Amino acid sequence: KGPDPDLVAIAERMATVKHKILVLSGKGGVGKSTFSAQLAFALAARDFQVGLLDVDICGPSIPKMLGLEGQEIHQSNLGWSPVYVESNLGVMSIGFMLPHPDEAVIWRGPRKNGLIKQFLKDVYWGELDFLIVDAPPGTSDEHISIVQCLDATGVDGAIIVTTPQQVSLIDVRKEVNFCKKVGVKVLGVVENMSGLCQPITDFNEVFDSSGGGAVKMCNDMGIPFLGKVPLDPQLCKAAEEGTSCFANKDCVVSAPALKKIIEQM
Ligand code: ADP
Repeated sequence: KGPDPDLVAIAERMATVKHKILVLSGKGGVGKSTFSAQLAFALAARDFQVGLLDVDICGPSIPKMLGLEGQEIHQSNLGWSPVYVESNLGVMSIGFMLPHPDEAVIWRGPRKNGLIKQFLKDVYWGELDFLIVDAPPGTSDEHISIVQCLDATGVDGAIIVTTPQQVSLIDVRKEVNFCKKVGVKVLGVVENMSGLCQPITDFNEVFDSSGGGAVKMCNDMGIPFLGKVPLDPQLCKAAEEGTSCFANKDCVVSAPALKKIIEQM
């Protein structure tokens, strides 16, 4: 039996991508897509060539967070063309393929895996410094599919986004162990919605982090802790409007926190 032709085609596509980063979370709603979007904005602002691939097939929020709602994908003889925010920031999401944003994607595993393969195989990114993959929450079929397709060794690593509470951290531990099992390096953990700054100099805890939060979990599991991002209405606004928080002068709380995280990655 020869090599899988799909995997060969994916390897060829990925040959023009320097770094591949997965963004993962144990649970939904912790800010994984928000972080992916702001990471893409931040890298693009540094003149890197960036691709953002949204494989959260059942809840694609990336088009909206990049200000690209209602856009469509075009096909050329090179493959599917990403939708561009700027010439150095391209985005691909199933959200661009749904006739209506309220449309539900109710697909079983094999079909989802088929689409992930197709995204990796058929999207024409060209030369990229970074491909950021916004994965669905949890450790499902799709995750195995992504890792298999990208070949564990070809991925630089995963960033895991969590909130400070135990219920979220329990799932993050599973995510970390999944990464270990499949051979994907954990680049680090971001603790999002860490606290509320209001007034902006006062940091108040929102969730119970008496268990030590993500810092303790990272210590326990021997993985890097990247930093905390406070709950910030301005960050939520940036995500709603599909803009970069770094370009918003009112985003005085979360933008510096995110900047610090991204700089030390
Ligand atoms: P996930 O991708 O983990 O499901 P999202 O990135 O979609 O989560 O975030 C869920 C919601 O929380 C979004 O409306 C987003 O704008 C908001 N949000 C995420 N992080 C923050 C934050 N630090 N401050 C304020 N709102 C946030």
